[in-house]
Amino acid sequence: MTTPRASALVTDILAALASDDVLTTPEDVAPYRSDAAGVPTERPPAVVVIPRTVEQVQAVARAATRHRVPLVVRGTGTGLSGAATAPADGIVLSTAGLASIEIHPGDQVAVVGPGAVTDHVDAAAREHGLMYAPDPASSRWSTIGGNISTNAGGLRCVKYGVTRDAVLALDVVLADGRLLRTGHRSVKGVTGLDLTALVVGSEGTLGIVVGATLRLVPAPARVRTLVVSTRSLAESGRAVDVVTGSGVRPSCVELLDRGTLENIDGHSGTDLVARHGNGLVLVRTDGPGADVEIETLAAALDAAGLRAELLDTAEGERYHELRRTGRGPVTDSWAAGEDVAVPRSQLVAMLAEIEAIAARHDLEVQAVAHAGDGNLHPGLLARRRDGETRPPARLEVALDELVRAALALGGTISGEHGIGTLKRGWLADELGAEQIALQRAVKAVFDPLGLLAPDSFLADAAAAVPTGSIVNGPLTEAGEDEALVAAGTVPA
Ligand SMILES: Cc1cc2nc3c(=O)[nH]c(=O)nc-3n(C[C@H](O)[C@H](O)[C@H](O)COP(=O)(O)OP(=O)(O)OC[C@H]3O[C@@H](n4cnc5c(N)ncnc54)[C@H](O)[C@@H]3O)c2cc1C
Repeated sequence: MTTPRASALVTDILAALASDDVLTTPEDVAPYRSDAAGVPTERPPAVVVIPRTVEQVQAVARAATRHRVPLVVRGTGTGLSGAATAPADGIVLSTAGLASIEIHPGDQVAVVGPGAVTDHVDAAAREHGLMYAPDPASSRWSTIGGNISTNAGGLRCVKYGVTRDAVLALDVVLADGRLLRTGHRSVKGVTGLDLTALVVGSEGTLGIVVGATLRLVPAPARVRTLVVSTRSLAESGRAVDVVTGSGVRPSCVELLDRGTLENIDGHSGTDLVARHGNGLVLVRTDGPGADVEIETLAAALDAAGLRAELLDTAEGERYHELRRTGRGPVTDSWAAGEDVAVPRSQLVAMLAEIEAIAARHDLEVQAVAHAGDGNLHPGLLARRRDGETRPPARLEVALDELVRAALALGGTISGEHGIGTLKRGWLADELGAEQIALQRAVKAVFDPLGLLAPDSFLADAAAAVPTGSIVNGPLTEAGEDEALVAAGTVPA
């Protein structure tokens, strides 16, 4: 905090916020420098602010505008694309102080602050027999604001839809401090352009979400689980195809390859490889039809010559939790994770591409997938050689080929984690120059000075960012509490 501009900025902010909620020392701001992607900018932010009221958020936005200082909003920092990376010499606005949760059972909605933790919202809803459906594997830590801004998916989304499907209305503070209210509390509503949907998934580029009205659904009283043991990635893909074509809409279809099972066994002390061989597909049904649906799925899998095993409730919960949080960090290899998604019909083809790319570049694979949605998180691993200080070039080349393979199959570069700062190099390949220009023009309407998330996917320099910047990142969705704590991402 040495420059006159930074001092004037902090003085302005301190006029509106308590001094304990304004952090400026290198030690205090350090935990806020990067998200779970772990790639900070060269210089730290000038200040981290933790507003407690919407008015304080507005005051911070006005200070940012007055002093022309960039601002990045931060939930818990579990994001995997660098979208919450602190802007050099700028402001990080943490939403930790805005975590209120109100449940309105009559309307089946939750009205929450952006800093409310996803699982806390769900737990509060369940006290009224309701459920907040979108459940990213990070839901124990992630915030609703972060979920909204990345349009997070999760394990239940195959049945209940992603975050966008659950957001009815938003309160948004614009870069100049104005407060905008979008959407409606009624289940239906079509008045005007759908700015709520526009803000969802905008990665903090359009405004600061300070409140959200979320749709709740009846909590299912019954959940059933089966697991399919497979001999290969291709067979896992076939199992997913059978489930998708069964006529049943399951509430979870997750794929774990052999590398992932080995990782979980090593980290969580399980015997998944011994029990399931080269792969596992985890399938759940829920609600009043859970029993008949799971039996229909088991019969369809059996008819297709696949080995399905029905689990009791406790085992079902255990497998579900192992998928969410059972994996550990990869320490002996350079690791890079992706988040591509392909049309459901192309899942088997994409899995074959992943195996071929890994073989071509002498890499190992650890893949998990929200397979029912065609959303894959393949991790590519290059064993670390003695004295090696940089990831090998072949890892970058393989990542590039993997993303391009997804695009060639009609897919997308990001199914749920967002583009952030790390995937900008592929943006034009998916959107094209014309659409990027239009999206930048939309941002300019909301944020004419370009202060919010200045290094985001809409940054001017997008085309110049090398795709290889992701290579030092952690393995996507490593699901490892200690690693996140060490990175300052979640509270210890
Ligand atoms: C173990 C693990 C598992 C994961 N599993 C999943 C998964 O299953 N599905 C999935 O989609 N993602 C998953 N993720 C990624 C991540 O958890 C999600 O992207 C999540 O939505 C981020 O929430 P957050 O509160 O940590 O947001 P942050 O990482 O802090 O921020 C993410 C983005 O949201 C913006 N933002 C945050 N709050 C606001 C606000 N109030 N207003 C405007 N912008 C805001 C930030 O600026 C940034 O652009 C996983 C991550 C980990 C580490």
